[in-house]
Amino acid sequence: MVVAASSWIDAAGQSSPPLHPAADVQALELARQAIAFRSVKGSGNQTIKVAELFRDALVGGGFSSADISITPVDDTAYMVARWRGSDPSLKPLVISGHLDVVEAKAADWQRDPFTAVVENGYLYGRGASDMKFDAALAIAAIVELKAQGFVPRRDIVIEFSGDEETDMKTSAIIAERFSNAELVVNIDGGGGTFDEQTGRPLYFTWQGAEKTYADFELTVTNPGGHSSQPRADSAINQLSRALLKIAAYRFTPELNDISRTYFVKAAQYEKPEIAAAMKAFAANPADAKAIETLAADPSHVGQIGTTCVTTMISGGHAQNALPQRASANVNCRIFPGHKPADIVAELARVIGDPEVHIKDVTEGSVANDASPMRPDFVAAVEGAMAVAYPGVPVFPSMASGASDSMWFRYHHVPSYGASPVFIKSSDDFSHGLNERISIANISPGITYYLALLRALAK
Ligand SMILES: [Zn+2]
Repeated sequence: MVVAASSWIDAAGQSSPPLHPAADVQALELARQAIAFRSVKGSGNQTIKVAELFRDALVGGGFSSADISITPVDDTAYMVARWRGSDPSLKPLVISGHLDVVEAKAADWQRDPFTAVVENGYLYGRGASDMKFDAALAIAAIVELKAQGFVPRRDIVIEFSGDEETDMKTSAIIAERFSNAELVVNIDGGGGTFDEQTGRPLYFTWQGAEKTYADFELTVTNPGGHSSQPRADSAINQLSRALLKIAAYRFTPELNDISRTYFVKAAQYEKPEIAAAMKAFAANPADAKAIETLAADPSHVGQIGTTCVTTMISGGHAQNALPQRASANVNCRIFPGHKPADIVAELARVIGDPEVHIKDVTEGSVANDASPMRPDFVAAVEGAMAVAYPGVPVFPSMASGASDSMWFRYHHVPSYGASPVFIKSSDDFSHGLNERISIANISPGITYYLALLRALAK
């Protein structure tokens, strides 16, 4: 099905003549086709088909197939396309995304997750919001930009990893290969918020930092014995005391440029009590009242500092034996700028029991710092938003989850989550059931990319 671009109502509720109708139509078609491929880790993984779909769209738009590579890795694949700039001495601009999606069990969905459906202004399907629609918008915008005759000064590299949702092996490979990049625009991060009531664009945030993911295994061992002859010491009790100390502990709250700006600018969209706490915390990260308020709010506690929480526990080996071993997994989300080893040392101090052994068992994650608020990027993203959504506030944010930006920041390449897609909070079903995205995003999303790429690749 092809939706006539001219019939679209934009996100501001106004019907306006399409600025780039071919790109708008292509974006929706690519998104629909991409959703139909089951690009999920495991047997039957069709990630390579998504890569081929996007490659073919670029070749159809006049790009040389010699500049596009698809590299199989295990059961997946990643794609790298290079649009050669006029000045080879400049470092490339990298557009980063991913081709894979999280598993979806069709029986639990109202519609088949791997059949794209457009209904009531929404595109439904696994990957609609994370992130096949985003990828389709970017590909269509690049094809449009080339058709407009634009020639970038620096190379534009568009790369899509193939296992961002699972192992991130391809993500690490790509970031290593482009560790010389000028900067990265990660189209799987950032984004706008639609007002719940009116559906109008409320604000847009670009993501300039994310917390570092870490898993620490805590273990206590004990000689054990017969449960009819209890000992004073117990591996389970000893571990429990350590875990309760961690639960009661608060890492020193902290701020960086990105979170400070976020708290100041985003406060206006919150309830009065939270808003006051955000402003007070931005002014003074030692403000006790503000800390209490934000720490009690699950949507903000992760933004004011490192958090650690016990997520798994095991211990003992028989109902009638004293435990010889007890262990737990403590999952930490580390504030940008700290190394996992520093957090291990801090936890050890908090526990104060050298018999509790702490081991870093983190997989698929690396420590990373916040990206700087680079004036050229900030100007480009604000300028592009001003064209796509005039008057909508733009400010930075820090994510509590991890994305492919982590791998670039690990190589000290500034990386910014800057997807132009807006969503109502109540519509956010990424990784979940009945994932969907408003197709009102298409036309302004293309407009945004055209302006952003022109600004950053010049
Ligand atoms: Zn994603």
